[in-house]
Amino acid sequence: MNVLSLFDGISTGRLALEMAGIKVDEYMASEIEAAPMNISKTNWPGEITYLGDVRNVRTRKLPHIDLLIGGSPCQGFSRAGQHLNFDDPRSALFFEFARILDELRKGGVMFLLENVVMKKEWEDVITKTLGVQPIHINSRLVSAQNRPRTYWTNIPGAGVPEDRGIRLLDVIDRDVDRSEFVERDGLLFDPAIPKAAADLISVVEGEVRVKQATRMGYIVAKEGDGINLAFPTSKTRRGRVVKGKSNTLACDCEGCVYHDGVIRKFTMTELERLQTLPEGYTAHGATEAERAKAIGNGWTAEVIAEIFRHMK
Ligand code: SAH
Repeated sequence: MNVLSLFDGISTGRLALEMAGIKVDEYMASEIEAAPMNISKTNWPGEITYLGDVRNVRTRKLPHIDLLIGGSPCQGFSRAGQHLNFDDPRSALFFEFARILDELRKGGVMFLLENVVMKKEWEDVITKTLGVQPIHINSRLVSAQNRPRTYWTNIPGAGVPEDRGIRLLDVIDRDVDRSEFVERDGLLFDPAIPKAAADLISVVEGEVRVKQATRMGYIVAKEGDGINLAFPTSKTRRGRVVKGKSNTLACDCEGCVYHDGVIRKFTMTELERLQTLPEGYTAHGATEAERAKAIGNGWTAEVIAEIFRHMK
């Protein structure tokens, strides 16, 4: 099949098609950032036709497209953002997906659009524009990461996958170098965690307590829990501890894990596993910060593969 992937990132769509065992003839991608494209090119050498900025994509110049996929930049919709919704130029890019889908409709194209969980009124705008009901899938069902997302697709039968019960403890490395870690309160802290963030954590009466904005003022972390220390001075943040899973990876991948007396950030390999990417998928063509951003922005490959398996 021929595939048009908008906002292609690190081509997780291409990977998911392979995981689903679907043969791809042409894979055409719209992307504008160098780092994710470099990562893609090392994984799919010569196999991706890049089309540049989505606003310049003209479908009449392309071969017949069987599948249109994309997750338009989410910042405008995201709860982490400033709630600018469709006026944010980044979320307005959704309408580029809608325009291209319209142009391809008469060819009987299948499509998949992904985005964050957003206010119902914004979700309804997308639902009305695309004409299919959204499916809410949390990546935690097929990975060790809590990542609620919204999917709109006309692939028949696509739904919520079964819970595979994968825990953070199943995917973390045991041999991470601790020689530079700093001891406090009987815990070892990764020096890569900024001080203001690490200071949210204390040990009281044998409990590892993480400060957060609830009446109790903290939440207890247990072995193998994920800890989200982003926005350490936030007066509203709660849910900083995620039971047995990592928090949702964002573009800075600021998540931490508590295990074996250590509080540390995830390694690059762990970040890949949390998105069910093959180990080393992002290892070439980008800096660590660029890799973390591309992974945090990306799809959970296995969620997408599960949806694509319904095309067979
Ligand atoms: N689903 C992708 C990631 C999407 S993140 C994956 O799994 O990797 C959104 C992507 O949209 C980013 O990589 C960003 O560089 C890209 N983007 C932003 N503006 C764009 C534009 N005008 N045209 C094409 N891509 C754009």
